[in-house]
Amino acid sequence: MRIAILSDIHGNRHALEAVLGDAHREDVDEAWCLGDLVGYGADPNACVRLAREHCAICLAGNHDLVVCGTMPMDDFSRNAAVAARWTQDEMDLENIEFLRRLAPDGIEGEIGLFHASPRDPIWEYVLSSALAERCLDVQEQRVALIGHTHVALSFARDAGSAVDGQTRHGGDAVSMASGEWLVNPGSVGQPRDGDPRAAWLLLDTEAWTASWRRVEYDIDAAGAAIVAAGLPSSLADRLQYGQ
Ligand code: ZN
Repeated sequence: MRIAILSDIHGNRHALEAVLGDAHREDVDEAWCLGDLVGYGADPNACVRLAREHCAICLAGNHDLVVCGTMPMDDFSRNAAVAARWTQDEMDLENIEFLRRLAPDGIEGEIGLFHASPRDPIWEYVLSSALAERCLDVQEQRVALIGHTHVALSFARDAGSAVDGQTRHGGDAVSMASGEWLVNPGSVGQPRDGDPRAAWLLLDTEAWTASWRRVEYDIDAAGAAIVAAGLPSSLADRLQYGQ
């Protein structure tokens, strides 16, 4: 099966529509979302509606759990909290209730799914090989998909060897036919790895390959919507730089 792996959409409708269009052109069978559908961006309802329509699997991220009231806002930065409160006011009850039904982790066949990490599916930022090693030690599935850091990454370990961590760019592809893997598609709606284009991952579970994709979208329009909504302008600015 060819699966589009999406994560960290963050209310960015323009980015999500571009990614869904790219995934459609790649003729994927399904799309799975690793969470953070909302928070930061100006179109949370549209993003939740699109995810409900297009994603066979959807996890909850920390922002989703805060916005739907499952978790307190205490650990959020100022901008994240401002955006979360705005999102709570903006969202339709039906979409809030959809978020309430989501879990931050799941299993699909041989693949573990976690918003953040196998050790802590809600909060842990897996950005180093040292941390990835601890995650692989507890990971029950050979392959796990994670989001949360907004950085496209792969961590791989063959029996008896050290973890190989790589940042991943659009066009990178790997074979995952052997070894243990922890893979991050990067962020659809707020990339933080210096490439402002929307990120997603094409996973082929028959060939066991993963291909990182980047797609252009209308960053100016997404930023203008953030400013027009009265959200902090820094949330619009960072989209231009992918930081
Ligand atoms: Zn996120």
